Amino acid sequence: MLSLDTPIEKLPRVGPRYLARLKHLGITTVRRLLWHFPARYQDFSNLVEIASITSAGETVSIQGVVSNIETKRAWKRNMAITTASVEDATGVIEAVWFNQPYLQDSLAEGTRVSLAGKVSEGKRGLYLSNPSYEKTTDDLRHTSGLVPIYPETEGITSKYLRFLIKPLLENFTKIPYLSQIHFPDTMEKAEQARKHFAFEELLLFQLRSLIDRGQMQKADAPAIAFDKDAIAKFVRALPFKLTDDQRKAAYEILKDIEGPHPMNRLLNGDVGSGKTVVALIAAYQTALAGYQTVFMAPTELLAFQHYQTITSLVSPTIRIGLLTGSKKENQGANILVGTHALIQDSVKFEKLGLVVIDEQHRFGIKQRMKLLKGSTLVPHLLSMSATPIPRTLTLTLYGDLDVSLIKEKPKGRVEIITKVIPHNEREIAYAFIDSQMKSGRQVFVICPRIEASEANEMKAVKEEFEKLSGKIFSHRRIAMLHGKLKAKDKEQVMADFKNRKFDLVVSTSVIEVGVDVPNATIMMIESAERFGLAQLHQFRGRVGRAEHQSYCYLFTTSPDITSTRRLKAMEATNDGFKLAEMDLKIRGPGEFAGTHQSGLPDLAMASLADLSLIQEARTEAKKVISEDPTLKNHPLLRERLNELQRIVHFE
Ligand code: ADP
Ligand code: MG
Repeated sequence: MLSLDTPIEKLPRVGPRYLARLKHLGITTVRRLLWHFPARYQDFSNLVEIASITSAGETVSIQGVVSNIETKRAWKRNMAITTASVEDATGVIEAVWFNQPYLQDSLAEGTRVSLAGKVSEGKRGLYLSNPSYEKTTDDLRHTSGLVPIYPETEGITSKYLRFLIKPLLENFTKIPYLSQIHFPDTMEKAEQARKHFAFEELLLFQLRSLIDRGQMQKADAPAIAFDKDAIAKFVRALPFKLTDDQRKAAYEILKDIEGPHPMNRLLNGDVGSGKTVVALIAAYQTALAGYQTVFMAPTELLAFQHYQTITSLVSPTIRIGLLTGSKKENQGANILVGTHALIQDSVKFEKLGLVVIDEQHRFGIKQRMKLLKGSTLVPHLLSMSATPIPRTLTLTLYGDLDVSLIKEKPKGRVEIITKVIPHNEREIAYAFIDSQMKSGRQVFVICPRIEASEANEMKAVKEEFEKLSGKIFSHRRIAMLHGKLKAKDKEQVMADFKNRKFDLVVSTSVIEVGVDVPNATIMMIESAERFGLAQLHQFRGRVGRAEHQSYCYLFTTSPDITSTRRLKAMEATNDGFKLAEMDLKIRGPGEFAGTHQSGLPDLAMASLADLSLIQEARTEAKKVISEDPTLKNHPLLRERLNELQRIVHFE
């Protein structure tokens, strides 16, 4: 009997080769297969003949054969332009893509394609500008109506998945919306189905949050007494005055860790808002109470920087340890700093009181218990994030966390001036950047992100390095930084940069989170249109960290109007929360730090901008949990929840 739990190897159309590929996608059972939803639908009901395309402006979809394809490089604008001629029985039209040179191979001459895009008019007549494309087959051509297109993955085509899923659906007609999400009758029905499943996914997520929260509230934690005098003294001795938001956040944390149950708190503050010192206050209090703190960073570079900052701010009576691949100074430390991975793999604590994590949000009871040597007290958790998280996301992804927010920047910071630099103003910008270096300031240059290839990213950095050091700024001291360097070398470059041994550093996005060089005043980003707003804002936060006027220059060669509009938003505001909301609307939540690792399924992701749907799911989840805390009357939900736990490794 075929059921949702039937392993996919039992299906007639799954041979060993496909089995491996499906498993790679996490598709092991019929349930997982049927819950692998289309990313979009191709609408073949509006298919037009090429000859019928007579004016610019409308969006059309066509099918034909590629009769010619070539890619030219417009060196001056640093851009690849691919032009294909596509023919059907009635005529021929050109399609043009920018910066996708790989299309040259994947849409080689003779390939049968289906294109959908906007008709534009150029010197050579009408053409399709940046159309979406899909290789098609005769089989697809004869399909009518809405055809599901599944997320692209190596070796598994949409065609194969359609072939696999369609016959199965007959067995599960009782599951509402299931056949409509795969093979919808109309776009409207597809939308309803997507909403239904998005709600289901959101509900599961909310349930999990509530269950986690309930578990935490039952667990015991070390109660760390709040010594007001000692803290006041510590704060007075700091080299700066705390902002009101920092004070408030520190107070919330100190009150929270006084309690007998583990704290679960997210400290959310824009870049440069001064989160580290807030966490340090909590760590200091924890040390005074005789407990240890671990401070975990996502990279060795940041671990090293936290270590330096902390060492400079606390008196020598508190022992600070650093744990990296090469350094292990952790003997009896009150505060131990290191990367997530290293600490989780190699240390066990006698008296762990507080875990501070930077830019990785979730750290469950089990993960915390694993750090302990015998003790059954669950340490408190402070999770820090510089990603301004819109409220919808906080509710969904971090529903089990309390949030402390730092909105206000430390006094005396100057607003960063942001400018989009078109190609013809490059020289002027270089001249200005040079004048900044001349007066002793320092510069970051970020190279464009290159999809899925560290090697290419390194190449881009090297090329930029050669261009800048060989020609444009040949009289300045220039360094480079990329993911392929050893951690030790990265640290060295950053330390040297901080100590002003270089004027300029060319880097990939490794620089993104947390790096603090107050003397740097220029952040220059190449091909800025390839980054999301949230990420650009993070880059920008690397400057403007001291009293000097700072600048963020967004270089772009993109002719695409929407991306230019996005970059203009960077010019218009320095408010990370506003940009985050905008990014969420424009690009969807997939680009937010933390959402990838959140394990939130795609559909729920796509609906994250829908606050009312999220609130509905939250209300429903609360109702379910209060009536049935162990979900014993909701076996289906419980099953899906267990499955979710397994997929995402929550604990
Ligand atoms: P982030 O929130 O991005 O992690 P950091 O904690 O790295 O920010 O702080 C950024 C810089 O601001 C550091 O150099 C830190 O010493 C400094 N700083 C923190 N709080 C204040 C304050 N209240 N006044 C002045 N400078 C501060
Ligand atoms: Mg930080």
